[in-house]
Amino acid sequence: MGNGSRGERLWPYRSPPLQDELLSSWMARLSAGNGLDLRRFCTLLWPGVRVWNRDVDQSGDHRVYELLAARTGVDAADAQGTILRGYEGVVYATHKPSGGTQWVLPLGLLGRARRALGVQFCSDCLAEDAVPYFRRAWRLACVAVCIRHGTPLSNRCPQCGVRFAYHRGELALAGGQARMQICLCMACGFDLRHAAAAEPRLVDGSETFISTQEEIGAVMRNGCGWVPGEGHVHSQLFFTGLRQLVRQFSLRGVGERIRTAACERVGAEPFALTVPSPSAVIEKLPIIDRMRLLNLSLLVLRGWPDTFVEVCASERVWSARLFKELHQAPYWYSRIVREHLQGTGMPPRTEGTRGSDAP
Ligand SMILES: [Zn+2]
Ligand SMILES: [Zn+2]
Repeated sequence: MGNGSRGERLWPYRSPPLQDELLSSWMARLSAGNGLDLRRFCTLLWPGVRVWNRDVDQSGDHRVYELLAARTGVDAADAQGTILRGYEGVVYATHKPSGGTQWVLPLGLLGRARRALGVQFCSDCLAEDAVPYFRRAWRLACVAVCIRHGTPLSNRCPQCGVRFAYHRGELALAGGQARMQICLCMACGFDLRHAAAAEPRLVDGSETFISTQEEIGAVMRNGCGWVPGEGHVHSQLFFTGLRQLVRQFSLRGVGERIRTAACERVGAEPFALTVPSPSAVIEKLPIIDRMRLLNLSLLVLRGWPDTFVEVCASERVWSARLFKELHQAPYWYSRIVREHLQGTGMPPRTEGTRGSDAP
């Protein structure tokens, strides 16, 4: 292995990033393939830089992916495609390298282990992979179901219950060589590829959850979503509105009332959140809650705006609450709230206009 300077030869093991692979997953595979544990790998390549104890996928440090590209002979653009910043302008407006980006699941690296959210995974995908790896999309709060296998994603080891995080370098070291396999639980050594057999995966109504996830995937792919009465809406503006709907349905108190009313209106099974969330931040909700809230919100969007207006009006939820925490309201959401659910409070600035290509 080189010491990180340019102009050195390629590494013996130099697999390119796999389809939609995360930078951290690629790094873990490259370090193991070249016979180094992750911490040593990072210390050798980026001396003095805190690489592995940060959320390297979120920080997207160019020194990291550029050096990996140089040592593997991979095109720099392909290496850059492994960081989460690629979702900027598609799923959210502004990427925050140090954390707190909307829709990006936090790893909680600086907190104690029980506070870490870990990474999502589909154990069936890992089991099918010729080389197991972690997908970039699994770091998004709007991805909760594997479309390929029709099952909710997971973020815990089914054997010991620890939230999975191969990012926790100190634990990756604990078991030596055997622990360097990316899909082994760092706490107990369980192979996540066997998780499907270890726990029941399917939940009631899985077909509707799959179609919800397919719709979200299509909005990301196409760069636009469809809102009845508005037509095509830029994906970023679609997701901003979707996030606000999820928020309204996950608030304590009034959120529970409009959630139940909305479920009845769209013919979905009413549900309680597994962890009542005072902050109602989707990035901090359990997978099952995100799955149900995204599903309900998209069903409400299909009947936009009538379902939303009727539910809010019947429960006396007005604009002050519907605009709360929304620094920039997408025009398609803002217009309906202003026209039909106006109450006290100043509305936020409106983002985008009907028919505009960009937010
Ligand atoms: Zn899968
Ligand atoms: Zn475990």
